Amino acid sequence: MPGLVTANTQEAYKRKLMRSVFTPELFGGITDALANKEQVILFQNRRGFAPYIQCGKCGWIPKCKYCDVSKTYHKNQSRLICHYCGHTTSLITKCEECGSDEIKTRGFGTEKIEDEIQLLFPEARVARMDLDTTRAKKAYEQLIYQFENRKIDILVGTQMVTKGLDFDHVSVVGVLNADNLLNYPDFRSYERSFQMIMQVSGRAGRKNKRGKVIIQTSQPNHPVLQDVIAYDYIRLFNRQMAERKLFRYPPYYRLIKIVVKHQNRDRLDLAASHLATAFKTHFNRNVLGPEYPVVGRIQMWFQKEILIKLPRDGKIQEAKTKIMEIINRTKSQPNNSQLIVYADVDPM
Ligand SMILES: [Zn+2]
Ligand SMILES: [Zn+2]
Repeated sequence: MPGLVTANTQEAYKRKLMRSVFTPELFGGITDALANKEQVILFQNRRGFAPYIQCGKCGWIPKCKYCDVSKTYHKNQSRLICHYCGHTTSLITKCEECGSDEIKTRGFGTEKIEDEIQLLFPEARVARMDLDTTRAKKAYEQLIYQFENRKIDILVGTQMVTKGLDFDHVSVVGVLNADNLLNYPDFRSYERSFQMIMQVSGRAGRKNKRGKVIIQTSQPNHPVLQDVIAYDYIRLFNRQMAERKLFRYPPYYRLIKIVVKHQNRDRLDLAASHLATAFKTHFNRNVLGPEYPVVGRIQMWFQKEILIKLPRDGKIQEAKTKIMEIINRTKSQPNNSQLIVYADVDPM
C-alpha cells in the first residue's frame, strides 16, 4: 500500500512556499517522479478553471441567472458555465456592479491545474480527464490507453481518475484540496472523503514499488485525514457510527427527505413551513427544516428541504402513509397548484 502524507497548504501559503497551487511536498514529489520516469496523477474534485470569478474591487461574483450558484470559469472555452443547469455566458472583463476591470479568478479546478503544471514542468506531457475532456466518443478510452502506454506523464482529473484504473508506473498521487471534500455539508461527507481519498490513493504504486500519496489540506490534523493516513477504516467507522447514533442519522434512523419546489419564493416559504409544521405535530423532534439546500434555486425553481428521521421500529409504512397524506393535503390547497413536493426515502 502506498505511503500517505498530508501537506499543510495554510502553512505553505503563510511561509510563501507554494508554487502556484502546489505545496513543496507535492512539487517535490512530482519532480522526483518525473526524474525517475514515473507517472503522476493529480486529483481535484472540480472541473473548469476556477469555481468562480470575483471583482477585486467590490467583491461582486457572477451568478447563474436561473440558479443560486456562482458560474464556473472555463478558460478553454472562454466562458462562464453554470454546473447545475448548463447555462453559459461569455467571459466577463468588467464588473457589472462597479465597472472595475479587476476581475480575479478564485479557487481552482482541473483546467487551472493542467495549465499551471505545464508551466512548472514544461517538459512533461500533461493531460486532463474530466467531464469536459471525455465528452467525445472514445475520448475516455483514448486517455486511458495513452496513460497506460506512458504517452502521458501527468494526468489531472476529477473522480474519473479514482475508479478502477490500474496503472503500473504511477509513483505519486496528489490530492490537491482535501478541504473541498471534508467541508461539504452532508452527514456522509467524512465517510465519502475517506472513500474517495482511498480510491485515488490506490492508483499509486504497483508491483514492487511503493507509491506515495500527498494530500494537500489546511487541516492536516483533521480526524478523517488522520484515519486516512493510518489506513484505519475501523476508527473512522466507530466514530461515525457514534455520531450518527447521537444525531439520529442512518443507519440507526431512516431518513426521509421532503423536497419542496416553487418558482415563487414566497409561495415556497409558506408551503414549506406549513408542511414542516404538519410534520412536526406528527413526528415531533424528528423533523428538521425547512431549509434551503446548498443550491437554493435550480433552473428558476426555488427549493427547500425538510428532513424526517424515523426510528427503525417497523412502523415505517404507517409513517410513509402519514407523510403522503400531509403532502397531498398541502398540494391540494388552492394556492399550491404550482407546488412540487416529493419524498426521497434514504436519499443518497
Ligand atoms: Zn466590482
Ligand atoms: Zn444555472
